[in-house]
Amino acid sequence: MHDLDSRDPLALGQQLMSVLESGRRTATYKLATLLALLEFAVEHAPGERDAAVDVDLDDLAERVIALYWRQVRDLDGHYLKQTSQKVARIPDAVRDLKQVTSPSGDVTLEVARRRGGAKFLATRDLVRMTLVQQPLLRLQRVGSDLVHECFLYDDTWMRDNISAKAVADHGNALRLFPGVCFALARLSALLKPALQIAWVNDVRKLNHFLDQDVPDLPGHLFGIDRISLDRARVVLTAEFGQRCFYCDAAVSTGAHVDHVLPWSRVGIDGLANLVLACPRCNSNKSSLLPAPLHVFAALDRGRERLDALAQSIDWPCQFDRTAAAARGLYATQPTGTPIWNAVRDIHTTRSDFDWNEARGAASDWV
Ligand SMILES: [Zn+2]
Repeated sequence: MHDLDSRDPLALGQQLMSVLESGRRTATYKLATLLALLEFAVEHAPGERDAAVDVDLDDLAERVIALYWRQVRDLDGHYLKQTSQKVARIPDAVRDLKQVTSPSGDVTLEVARRRGGAKFLATRDLVRMTLVQQPLLRLQRVGSDLVHECFLYDDTWMRDNISAKAVADHGNALRLFPGVCFALARLSALLKPALQIAWVNDVRKLNHFLDQDVPDLPGHLFGIDRISLDRARVVLTAEFGQRCFYCDAAVSTGAHVDHVLPWSRVGIDGLANLVLACPRCNSNKSSLLPAPLHVFAALDRGRERLDALAQSIDWPCQFDRTAAAARGLYATQPTGTPIWNAVRDIHTTRSDFDWNEARGAASDWV
């Protein structure tokens, strides 16, 4: 049993930071696993904050693949090293999947999954097994003596050489201790940037060519792919008109594509989370959480309509993920979190925000 009160976000955050600081990392896998866990926690934040939550390991593996999907493309002609080991199992598998399913390199992971079929499943299997054998097994260990205290989940069943059958026998899942999922979701806005900075630093250390040049490494690893967003801009304009989603002002052809739920909070760039915005709204909103009514309006554009639009440009829709992430974000924000309604109209959250109540009973997507 663990002594730490995992339900206390502050204690949990402190413990996570100490694990990150004390463990010398030989690969970026732990960071990827933690970022994937944070993202999962936001999208699965339980109504009962003390609930234990099962994390499906295939789901987690897919989130890790998504994180590396951008990163395995070349930077100035270099395939970035993500580990000091000879074999980079996870990035190599992701890069291989990308080369097979997207020779031109511009296809989203969701489309690659459709095209890849068996290849996608094999990649996910390999990543899932690697996660259990390496970062998930070591995430809660501090220092070189491997003293560890489980504070997120029970890892005593994990092994370096665990078989796929043993993982399946364990339900193909790990169980976050009571309160951990909610606490991780609440911490996400704080921890995510810290983990990304640590990741950028690790990649710098692993890739010496980056010492001379100073390319936009954070942008390469975690930025928004502005060029591919052009495809989204074209269909959003054609379907919903050349107007700002937030203030209804007419916008020019070069309008910003805005992530309703900010990219920095949840990395969802499916069409359900994308709208056109005027430069004023876009820059003023920045990474603030939008008022829930904006998310409702974005989803009220309709699942089928958004699905069809997304398909027409080989783009993900991610309707359910957008709804789940919004619910999780609002439910776990501390009282007083700034909420963006419009330019110069920012208020703060109440502690008792209830997504379902705010939405009302009419919706077919809650
Ligand atoms: Zn506007």
